[in-house]
Amino acid sequence: MACYNPESLKAEEFINHEEILETIAYADAHKDDLELIEKIIDKARLRKGLSHREASVLLACENKEKIEEIYDLAEQIKKDFYGNRIVMFAPLYLSNYCVNGCLYCPYHLKNKHIPRKKLTQEEVAREVIALQDMGHKRLAIEAGEDPVNNPIEYILECINTIYSIKHKNGAIRRVNVNIAATTVENYKKLKDAGIGTYILFQETYHKESYEYLHPTGPKHNYAYHTEAMDRAMDGGIDDVGLGVLFGLDKYRYEFAGLLMHAEHLEAVHGVGPHTISLPRVKRADDIDPDEFDNSISDDIFCKIAACIRIAVPYTGMIISTRESAELREKIIRLGVSQISGGSRTSVGGYCEQERPHDTEQFDVSDNRTLDEVVNWLMTAGYIPSFCTACYREGRTGDRFMSLCKSGQIQNCCHPNALMTLKEFLMDYASDDTRRIGEELIEKEIGNIGKEKVKDIVRERLVKIENGDRDFRF
Ligand code: SAM
Repeated sequence: MACYNPESLKAEEFINHEEILETIAYADAHKDDLELIEKIIDKARLRKGLSHREASVLLACENKEKIEEIYDLAEQIKKDFYGNRIVMFAPLYLSNYCVNGCLYCPYHLKNKHIPRKKLTQEEVAREVIALQDMGHKRLAIEAGEDPVNNPIEYILECINTIYSIKHKNGAIRRVNVNIAATTVENYKKLKDAGIGTYILFQETYHKESYEYLHPTGPKHNYAYHTEAMDRAMDGGIDDVGLGVLFGLDKYRYEFAGLLMHAEHLEAVHGVGPHTISLPRVKRADDIDPDEFDNSISDDIFCKIAACIRIAVPYTGMIISTRESAELREKIIRLGVSQISGGSRTSVGGYCEQERPHDTEQFDVSDNRTLDEVVNWLMTAGYIPSFCTACYREGRTGDRFMSLCKSGQIQNCCHPNALMTLKEFLMDYASDDTRRIGEELIEKEIGNIGKEKVKDIVRERLVKIENGDRDFRF
């Protein structure tokens, strides 16, 4: 039997089934132990994180007052580390060719009634222009796994095309990559292509379920998939993004697995995950989410977000347009730092007038335009940020984390958010959004700590009005 060892490079040792079962049993045994819960919350107040066991006790706790305390702390930690900024991004689907058999994904090989599509470089350019015209600066590229149709060379060519397009004042300044687990050599190539975060959802940490849900194709290999982030880091990628597809297996199992994965990365590579994504299974072409019997309520989903926020305070948290505007409003408060906006989850979708459904990976619940999302965030008191400065300034991996831990990052993020928002207002916003945004920027300049930085920001805002772009700290 495999033994739990966070420093091991073997999937079944750092995501150890017995350890997860014991963690859940421990959490069940202590879920009413208010003294212990108070102790764990106090530890979380130190903003140094919690272990998977401690966080699992909080997730199991059903005491209303304590849950409120957890929510308040999550909100406060979010404010301390991320202020009221929300980073914006959009997914870009390159190809839905896929050789895997994932039971929850409409791109699975056996699905013969969706049209298969792979963007040519001309089509990539057109999609990128459409995304730039919306105001996006940060993309997450997505593709099925198909060594013949979507080899690494194709992905690299697309990244190159994306970075090369400069349409009007637009530019994509950070390309994050969500493609199947691959080799160290290929991760090196992605690193050399200048990617931001490498994102790979674990889908489920439960090995038996994983193998059942991925019956065919290379993705069937649990160890190869689970150990992918170690290979990515060995290939030089500093920023990796974890995620679980909630609904596939029991959420408490996934939660413990996710935090164990974060602990493992920290133990082996000295740096935890850059982001954690929180997707839930959605309806799609031949996929009925009701067939997966582990779906979670909105309340549980929010509780998971809050517990992650206090367990890994330095890790960004991402919510996509899989979720409705209403849910997003609720969950952002509890610690989310990045959201997508104006998304199309189909191959070539941004060039279509209407949202096409035939090649969609999943149903989008938040259908608002990027301008509407930006307007909504600002009205709710948030600063939508189009900042991509960190990795362009070499602030990745442990360099980013140490700045984050010291609180220094605020001196960059806040002014960068205001300057990139200003660019959005000048180039892409509706009149109403621009009006709200200008008022917000004026107010938020007052929250810049250092007088000198304040002066520089004011100067640069004027320069942006006069047509200059891409300032950053
Ligand atoms: N093929 C790559 C891989 O295997 O990781 C890229 C990922 S895919 C384009 C992006 C993610 O979408 C998947 O990792 C999965 O979690 C999610 N996804 C697939 N089907 C979904 C569905 N029906 N509802 C919600 N998310 C889904």
